[in-house]
Amino acid sequence: MTRIAFIGLGNMGGGMAANQAKAGHDVAAFDLSPVALERAAEAGCRTVASVAEAVKDAEVVITMLPAGPHVLGVYSDQIIGVAPASALLLDCSTIDVETARKVAGLAKEAGYAFADAPVSGGTAAADAGTLAFMVGCDEADFARVEPALDPMSRITIRAGDHGAGQAAKICNNMLLGISMIGTCEAIALAEKLGLEPERFFEIASKSSGQCWSVSNYYPWPGPVPTAPSNRKYEGGFASAMMLKDLKLAQDAAAKAGATTPLGAQAEALYALFNGLGYGGKDFSAMVQMLRGRIDT
Ligand code: NAD
Repeated sequence: MTRIAFIGLGNMGGGMAANQAKAGHDVAAFDLSPVALERAAEAGCRTVASVAEAVKDAEVVITMLPAGPHVLGVYSDQIIGVAPASALLLDCSTIDVETARKVAGLAKEAGYAFADAPVSGGTAAADAGTLAFMVGCDEADFARVEPALDPMSRITIRAGDHGAGQAAKICNNMLLGISMIGTCEAIALAEKLGLEPERFFEIASKSSGQCWSVSNYYPWPGPVPTAPSNRKYEGGFASAMMLKDLKLAQDAAAKAGATTPLGAQAEALYALFNGLGYGGKDFSAMVQMLRGRIDT
């Protein structure tokens, strides 16, 4: 049994903390939201009244927070210097590379082992304990990181040093945003040409257009029963979250001097879709905007 402090019990963190409790660990859980705390208590976590109370005796601290400013604020004011220096600190949020490296630097200065460990897989994988973790940490620390993530993971890969986990996450999601838009455009064109989107799936999923967005997440109802397209694009990965990640990719590209023209287009299209009021819909609902008729 490990003493785990879990901070941030939202759509993702709630399921992840529950899986740590299910694995037999003592999970001291904290969130600003009373509803999230209640759900964590029902899932077997020991809820506490503050970050400080959660981390004071922790062997492992896990954070799953919305964005960079939350992560920097919580680590610099409430975790570093409060948790025992022997604690392993794991931030699983998706944030910018710069902030991840800044937090890692502050943690290291104070004597902690820290890893950025963002995830791929969404809420279903968070609940099922089958997330993919991409880790940025000192090589020597990875032997401690992998078992700590195990109850929540299907696979854990060390991407490199601090910040490399976030770099991998941002690049992966930029590719996902682009491939989803490509899939949606192809479906919209197929429909206009009189080709049924269901029949196009049969062909594209076995041809050179095959990709995850086609085979696992087809944006048209029918061919992939688990895809949010079958649930009026509810649940899944919100377009607002995709926009956040595409913005992170564009900011990173500008700072690194990288040329990412399709990433820029993807950001513009998701900004337009969010601006039309569809930020809460799954990101595959983009197909509706591209066929010129939003009837979700
Ligand atoms: P969420 O908004 O549902 O959860 C975030 C939680 O953090 C909320 O419950 C909020 O109350 C809590 N919180 C905020 N500030 C806090 C503080 N100072 N102290 C304690 N708790 C605080 O978001 P989510 O969907 O769970 O996403 C969390 C992170 O995971 C994000 O960075 C997101 O980009 C990433 N992510 C999400 C998905 C997804 O499918 N939802 C997939 C992969 C990665």
